[in-house]
Amino acid sequence: MKLYNTETKRKEEFVTIEPGKVRMYVCGPTVYNFIHIGNARPMIVFDTVRRYLEYRGYEVNYVSNFTDVDDKIIAKAIEEGVTAQEISERYIAECKKDMEGMNVRHATTHPLATREIDGMIEMIQTLIDKGYAYDVDGTVYFRTRKFKSYGKLSHKNLDDLRAGNRSLLVTGEDQKEDPLDFVLWKPKKEGEPYWTSPWSDGRPGWHIECSVMAKKYLGDEIDIHAGGEDLIFPHHENEIAQSECCNGKIFSRYWLHNAFLNIDNRKMSKSLGNFFTVREISEKYDLQVLRLFMLSAHYRSPLNFSAELMESAKSALERIRNAVSNLTFLGKNAADGELSGQEQILAEQLGAYRAKFEEAMDDDFNTADALAAIFELVKFANSSANADSTKAWLELLRKELLELCEVMGIIAEEKEELLDADIEALIAERQAARKAKNFARADEIRNELLEKGITLLDTREGVKWKRA
Ligand code: AMP
Ligand code: ZN
Repeated sequence: MKLYNTETKRKEEFVTIEPGKVRMYVCGPTVYNFIHIGNARPMIVFDTVRRYLEYRGYEVNYVSNFTDVDDKIIAKAIEEGVTAQEISERYIAECKKDMEGMNVRHATTHPLATREIDGMIEMIQTLIDKGYAYDVDGTVYFRTRKFKSYGKLSHKNLDDLRAGNRSLLVTGEDQKEDPLDFVLWKPKKEGEPYWTSPWSDGRPGWHIECSVMAKKYLGDEIDIHAGGEDLIFPHHENEIAQSECCNGKIFSRYWLHNAFLNIDNRKMSKSLGNFFTVREISEKYDLQVLRLFMLSAHYRSPLNFSAELMESAKSALERIRNAVSNLTFLGKNAADGELSGQEQILAEQLGAYRAKFEEAMDDDFNTADALAAIFELVKFANSSANADSTKAWLELLRKELLELCEVMGIIAEEKEELLDADIEALIAERQAARKAKNFARADEIRNELLEKGITLLDTREGVKWKRA
C-alpha cells in the first residue's frame, strides 16, 4: 500500500512502527458552531482511510481531538452570555450528531484540550528545561531557530519566513527573542477561562494541544498524522517542533493532508461566510449523499461544491441502493441450492471488481477510482441477476456490494422500518410455527426480527418485543 507523504512529497510504501498496528492522529475541529461541510471533508476522508486500513487487517488506534478552548469559543460565549464550556459542550454534541449522520465512526479516543492541561504544562516545562522554550512575563514561547529541522514539513526556509513576517509584527511581538517564535502558553485576559501554571494563570497555545494528546494516547512516535492542508503551516510544523524537541524522536512517519472543499473555487470557510453547515445539507439530502460526493474526488484534489455534483451523488447512491434492494427482492423467491453452471462462470469474474477496488485504494486511497469499481460491480450485478438466479448467487453479489460499500462507509442497504402491526403479525406466525413444532421457521422469524433491531422476550404472559 502506498500513501503520499506531504513531508517527502512522494508516494511511499506504508510500513508501520509496530507490525499490524496503526497509530493515527487527525486534527479535529474547534467547537464554537455547527461544523461546515469543509470541516466534514477531513472527517469523511480519514474515516475512510481508517476503514480501509482495518479492511487490510490493521488494528487502528485513531485519535481525533476537539479544540474546546480558543478565542472564537470565548467570543461566542461572551456574545451569548454563557460559559465557554457550555458553548464547547453544545457544539461537540452537535458535531457528534453530524458525524453519525455521515457514518463517520467514533475515534478510539476523542480527547478534549481542556482535560489535558497538565500534560501541556509538563511538555512546556520539558521544552524550557531543554532550552527550546522561554518565559517572558508569563508568556512562554518556542525558540523556533533552535530546532534545526524547522520547515521540513512545509518546505519553508526560515530566512524566507523571517522576511515574509517582517511586516506582520504586531504589538507584544517585540518581547519575543525572534519573530519566528510561537506561543506555547499565554496569560489570561479578564473574563477568560484559565489554568494555573508555573508561568502565569493562563491557557495553552493551540499547537501544543495536539503534540500532547498524540503523545498521551498514541506515544512519542506515530504512523499517520492527518488534517486539512491549511494545517501544514504553521500548525503541523509547530507540532513537529514541539514533539521532536520534547521527545527526541521522529514524531510522525507519514503526513496526510486533504485539499480544500471549495465553493465557486474559493475555500469554504467560516470567516469568508461562504459555507453550508452539515446540518443544512442534512435538511435536503441524506448525509450519505454528502459522503459519496466527498469520496468522488481524490482527497488531495480540490473539490468544488455544487448542486449538480450533489444531485449526481444522489443518483449514484440510488443506483447502488437499487441494485442491493433488487438483489434482496430477487433472493426472497430464488431457488436454494448450489450455483448454476453459468453462475460459476460469473463467480470467477466477480473478483475482478474487488481487485480493482483494492488497487485504487492501495494507491494513496484513490476513492474516486474505488467508487468507479463499485459502480462497475453494480452494473455487473444488475446484468447478472434475474428471476432465474439462485439464492446463493444473489447472496454472493449482495455481500460483495455491501462489503465494498462498508469500507467506504456507504450504507448501501436502507433499513426497512417495520411497523408495529408487521412485528405483531410475525410474532403470531412464529407462535403458530412453534405450536406446529416447526422450530426452524420459528427461529428464522426470530432472527429476521433481530436483524431489524427487534428483540423478542418469551415471558409467562406471552411474547413481548422491543426495538433496539
Ligand atoms: P478548524 O475547525 O478550522 O480547525 O478545521 C477543522 C478541520 O477542517 C481541519 O483539518 C481543517 O483543515 C479542515 N477544513 C476547514 N475548512 C476546510 C475546507 N474548506 N476544505 C477542507 N478542509 C477544511
Ligand atoms: Zn492539530
